[in-house]
Amino acid sequence: MLTVQNLSVNYRGIEALTGVSMALRPGEWVGLIGPNGAGKSTLVKAILGLTPYRGKILLNGASLKRQRSQVAYVPQRSQIDWDYPITAWNVVMMAQTRALGWGRSPGSKVKELVSASLDRVEMLPLKNRPIGQLSGGQQQRVFLARALAQQPNLFLLDEPFSGIDKKTEAIMLSIFADLSQQGKTLLVCSHEWGEALNRYDRLLLLNRRVLADDAPQAVMTMENIQQAYGTNVQADLHSQTGAPFVY
Ligand code: ADP
Ligand code: MG
Repeated sequence: MLTVQNLSVNYRGIEALTGVSMALRPGEWVGLIGPNGAGKSTLVKAILGLTPYRGKILLNGASLKRQRSQVAYVPQRSQIDWDYPITAWNVVMMAQTRALGWGRSPGSKVKELVSASLDRVEMLPLKNRPIGQLSGGQQQRVFLARALAQQPNLFLLDEPFSGIDKKTEAIMLSIFADLSQQGKTLLVCSHEWGEALNRYDRLLLLNRRVLADDAPQAVMTMENIQQAYGTNVQADLHSQTGAPFVY
C-alpha cells in the first residue's frame, strides 16, 4: 500500500537518508529499527510530507497529499509540547476536527468513537485530566487513542515504546496485533531491540540506508547488529526469549 523509492533526505549538507527503498503491504506490522540518528524519524516525516526529500513516496499508487486522512501519525514523545493545556479527551477529539471542520460541534457518533478509542487504551477514566498531568505511558496511550479515532489505514508510530511502563507496552502490543489482523498497516520506529520485535511481520534495519529487510529472526543477527550499531556493541543472541538485546 505504501511504496518508497530511492528516497534521500539532506539536512544542509548532512545526508540523513540515502537511496532508501521499501514497501509496506496491507495488514503488515513492520518495525523500523536502528540506532539514534539512523534517520527513522526523518523517514516518517518524509512520508508525511513534513520534510523535503528526493525520490518517490506513493500511497496506493498516488501522492499522499490528498490522502493524508488515511495516515495517522504518533510523534516521538520528545516532540510534543506537554505544557499545552488540553485534556486527554480533547487530544483524541482533535482526530475528528479535520473531518468535522472547526467550530462544528461533534455529534454523538464522534463522541462514541472518541470514548471507544480512550477505552481501548484504558484511559477513559482519566479523560478529563490535562495531558501534562499524565505519566509518560498514559500520554503515549492518549496519542495512540487519537490515532485510533482517526480510523486510518496506515499508522506511523515514532518510538512509541520509549519511556513507558509495562502495562502501556502490553496494551500497545495488543492493539498493534489487532490492527494488523484488521488489515491495517503499521510502521513502528524503535531504537531499542527486544523480544517484542519477534511479534512483528518484518523488520527494516536502517542506518542512513536500509541494511536489512526481512523476517525478525533473519534481521536480528550479530552481523546485522554490529553493522548498524557498531562493533563495540554487546548483544545476547541466546537470551531465553530467543531475541537479541543490544546493551
Ligand atoms: P532517528 O530518528 O533514527 O534517531 P533522525 O531522523 O532524527 O534519526 O535523524 C537523522 C539525522 O539527521 C541525525 O544525524 C540528525 O542529527 C539529523 N537531523 C534530524 N533532523 C534534523 C533537522 N531538522 N536539521 C538538521 N539535521 C537533522
Ligand atoms: Mg527518531
